[in-house]
This record gives sequence, structure tokens and C-alpha cells, in this order.
Amino acid sequence: MERKKKNTVEEKGVKLNRRGFLKYGIGTGTILAVAPFPLRRVEAATFVGPEPSVENYDVIVVGHGMAAMTAALAAVERGAKVAVLEKQRKSLYGGNSRVSGGGFCTPQNNSDKAKELFVNDFMKKSRYRADKRMTESLAENVLKDIEWLIGHGFEFLDPEPTPPYNVNVRVAAPGWYRGMPRLLEGMLKKCKEKGMAAYYDTKARELLVDSSASIVGVRAETKDGFVDFHAGAVVLAAGGFGGNEQMLENWVGPGAGESMVRGARWVTGDGHRMAEAAGAVLVKMAGIDGIHVGAVHVKNPAAGNPFRILPYCIGINKNGKRYVDESLGYVAHGKAAMSQPDMEVALVFDQQIADMPAGKAVLEQFEGLKIEPIKANTLAELASKIEAPADTLADTIKQFNTAVSGKKALDADPPKTDLAFKIEKPPYFAFYPLKPGITLTFGGIKVDLNRRALQADGQLIKGLYAAGECVGGYFVDDYVGGGSLCRCLVDGRIAGENATKG
Ligand SMILES: Cc1cc2nc3c(=O)[nH]c(=O)nc-3n(C[C@H](O)[C@H](O)[C@H](O)COP(=O)(O)OP(=O)(O)OC[C@H]3O[C@@H](n4cnc5c(N)ncnc54)[C@H](O)[C@@H]3O)c2cc1C
Repeated sequence: MERKKKNTVEEKGVKLNRRGFLKYGIGTGTILAVAPFPLRRVEAATFVGPEPSVENYDVIVVGHGMAAMTAALAAVERGAKVAVLEKQRKSLYGGNSRVSGGGFCTPQNNSDKAKELFVNDFMKKSRYRADKRMTESLAENVLKDIEWLIGHGFEFLDPEPTPPYNVNVRVAAPGWYRGMPRLLEGMLKKCKEKGMAAYYDTKARELLVDSSASIVGVRAETKDGFVDFHAGAVVLAAGGFGGNEQMLENWVGPGAGESMVRGARWVTGDGHRMAEAAGAVLVKMAGIDGIHVGAVHVKNPAAGNPFRILPYCIGINKNGKRYVDESLGYVAHGKAAMSQPDMEVALVFDQQIADMPAGKAVLEQFEGLKIEPIKANTLAELASKIEAPADTLADTIKQFNTAVSGKKALDADPPKTDLAFKIEKPPYFAFYPLKPGITLTFGGIKVDLNRRALQADGQLIKGLYAAGECVGGYFVDDYVGGGSLCRCLVDGRIAGENATKG
């Protein structure tokens, strides 16, 4: 565990009186909040034994992924004394952010029109059930927030269009699935230079609430016992609940807990549960609409995701049939794959598609992962390699090719509404076997535009902010790729800034 000296409280000239009042210096010390002594909340157990030791900060950030590091950077930049708490050991910090593709979705430029198209794409993906004002907040802020990171010396690749959407993706350099460790490490270094403390093997267990119902800190479990981290504000950035079988079964439905987890298995909805215990409301949690699922290669469920080539391909199941409009993107495809025989599918394409930029990029991506695509000179050979009946596969492809007209195949079964290309130029390829894996969970803590946590009746929970995957409302059923890192960045920056105000 990396700890700051225990006497940091005295260094700032702030006094702690455990019987009376706790005084916090916020930011540069210009604001002084006075809060009654925190009440303890202990879930399902009675606390006995010596008092936990106490650490004092202006802002506590729970988590160490993209949302957390952005919040921490925004707060330390404003002179706040900040600590991040990470439940894992240092070598495993970073949650799902660290293993993610590193794509940040943005409007195509800074114009009102481009922002409107961005919002429309996201709203359409949620079947207009997402929170529009939150989505607009992403459109409004993400480009300047990426520039803010670039201003700190962090690198992104040039904007990449992502058809069929009217948005761009900026990928953390040096490229897909390689950029996030570098970005997070750089952010950690920058925050530490500005005085941030990072605590590892430190699992936040509950929020500390005072008698005025303000959140005044976090109780955490460490190897040395409980530690109470007192602060003027807490930012929950503990990620989603994809690693929590119980929450998946309860919220998403029976069987959901058996899905492959593409990211960090220890990201278990702790932020959701702590916030709920403190009175926050969780939204957009329920049902299959509450998760993001991709059909990914079993050899590498995290990075083995052929999503960029997917809209050009056809998906084939074990019966040799198509089962989804592939142009709807990889969440629609992943969820459709959940109900296919053996929950196992193949993405089929030909040389023409392999030669497209998306094809070349994905073939290169898989080469880097040492996963060979299946290659066959005839459809019969392909069928045997993807374990589908040859005659049905031939019929499916014939019917699909006949239906292709002007990049649509509306008479195909099922119809393909965009990016339809005939599968006719050998050799034929397939990514196989692909199985559904949970990428992220969509539901979470309801926040206002300042990323302050809300109760069900709309009342604020003072001192509590949330950022990233533990926030709900942005996405329902599906999202546009890059949307989650985009909201981690925007949420984190806004929450971090506001948390310095208490
Ligand atoms: C394989 C994969 C690829 C992806 N690719 C993309 C992509 O390219 N673009 C995109 O937009 N999205 C992508 N996503 C989704 C995206 O990565 C996540 O939604 C996002 O990174 C979540 O960030 P976060 O900071 O909210 O949480 P996380 O990055 O998951 O971080 C949560 C942190 O909190 C810590 N933590 C949890 N509980 C506690 C506790 N009680 N106490 C202390 N610490 C705790 C965890 O250990 C972790 O460090 C991908 C996801 C996966 C799995």
C-alpha cells in the first residue's frame, strides 16, 4: 500500500476533533466546511474493536480506472488534496479501463450539427430511452476534454470515422487495446506529481454519512484493518457490476451471471451498492437492456472483438443460418448470439471485405493477438471449419447475395439494412468460434449534470459524486462504440471539478 504520511492533516493546519467537529480545508483552503462527526454505517455486522485509523483529504475517489483518474486529475489541478482508493494491488489497478479497446467516441467536429448527430446516434441506439440531457452533456464536452488530456501530454490517434454512425472515435495511442495502460499510467504519474495519494489493496466498504445526511468520507478495508478516509466529497468511480454474479442474476435475469466476463472480474458493483445504502437511486439496471454484450473470440474475450469488420460481414450460426442485421453493430449482434445454438457463432466475410480498411485493421488486430481467422477456398470447406451444414450455408449465402442491392439486403432473412456486400470473392474467411461476453453494464447511480448523486425523489446527496460505469442513464440496450470511455472522461472531469467545491 502506498500511503501519504499520516500527519498530512496537521500539515494543512486543519484540526481533527473526534468528539466534536471535523474541519476540512477544501482545495487551497479558501473554503472551510464544518461537519458533525460522521456516523458509521456497518452493513449486516456490528463493528467492535479499536477505532479505525483516520486519513484526511479534500476529495476521495473510489476506483482507479479512467473515470477515477480523470476525476483525480481535475481535482488535483484545482489544488485539492486527493486520494484514490483501489481494491486491487498496484499491478492490477485500472479495472475495465485498462483492458479496454481505448476508443473514445466524439462528435465529428465542434459544430452544433455534429453534436446533434452524435446525440441522435446515441438516442437511437437506446431506442430513445437514454437520458437525453446527459447525452447532450457528452456531446458538449468530450472534444474539449480530449484536448484537455492532450494538453497534459497524453496522446490519441487521429479521429477515425465509424460508419454507419455519424461520430468519430479517438483511440488512446499507440492503438486499439494497447493505449489504455499507457494513458492510465501517464495520468497516475501526472496526478502524483500534483500531490495525489494512491492507496492499493484498499477496498471501499461503505460511505460515511454525518447527521446532516452529507457524505463525509469512506470506510475502507485494508490489510491492516479498517481505515476511515474523511473528505469534503467522495467521487464513486468503482465501475460497473459485470463481475458480480448475484447482481447480474438479480437485475439482468436468470442465467446472466453465467456469461463470460470480458473485463476485470473484481469490478463488482461496489459503488452501486455503497451509493444505494446511502440513499442514492439506481436507474436503467433491469433486464437484458442493462448490459452490453459482444460476441468475442473465445481465445481472447477482451481484445478478440472483430467489431470493426462486423457490419460488413454476415453472422452464421451452427445451423448455417443468419440471425441478425449485422449492420446494427456489435451489441445487437452479441445479444442475438446469446440465443443461437451452443451460444456460438461465426462472422463470415470474403476477400473483398478483407481488403477494406476495416477488414485490414481487424486482420492486423487478430494477427497481433495470435488468433488466425479461418480461411477456406470454397464455401463447403468453410462450412466444415465453422461446423455448419454445407448445403444450408450455401443456400444462406446465395439468398443473401441475391438480396444485395445498393449496400442493403432488405429481402434477405433477416434483412440487412446497411453495409451489405455480396460474399462471393474467395478465399472466404470467418472469425470463429465467437461467444457472448459481457463488456459493461449500463445501469447505475442517477446523477445530475454536475454528476452529484441523486435520491429517488430527486434530492441531492450532499458530498457524493459519481463518474463512469457506475453511473446510469446514458445507455439502454445498446450504445455507440467508444461511448463508455467518452462518459468516463466527461463524468470524471465534471465530478472531479465539482467535488473540490464540497
Ligand atoms: C474488453 C473491453 C473492451 C472495451 N473497450 C471499450 C472501448 O474501446 N471504448 C469504450 O468506450 N468502452 C470500452 N469498454 C468499456 C469501458 O472500458 C468501461 O465501461 C470503462 O473503462 C469503465 O471505466 P470506469 O473508470 O468507470 O471503471 P473501471 O475502469 O472498471 O474501474 C473501476 C475501478 O474501481 C476499482 N474498484 C471497484 N470496487 C472498488 C472498491 N470497493 N474499492 C476500491 N476500488 C474499487 C476497480 O478495481 C477498478 O480499478 C470496454 C470494456 C471491456 C471489458
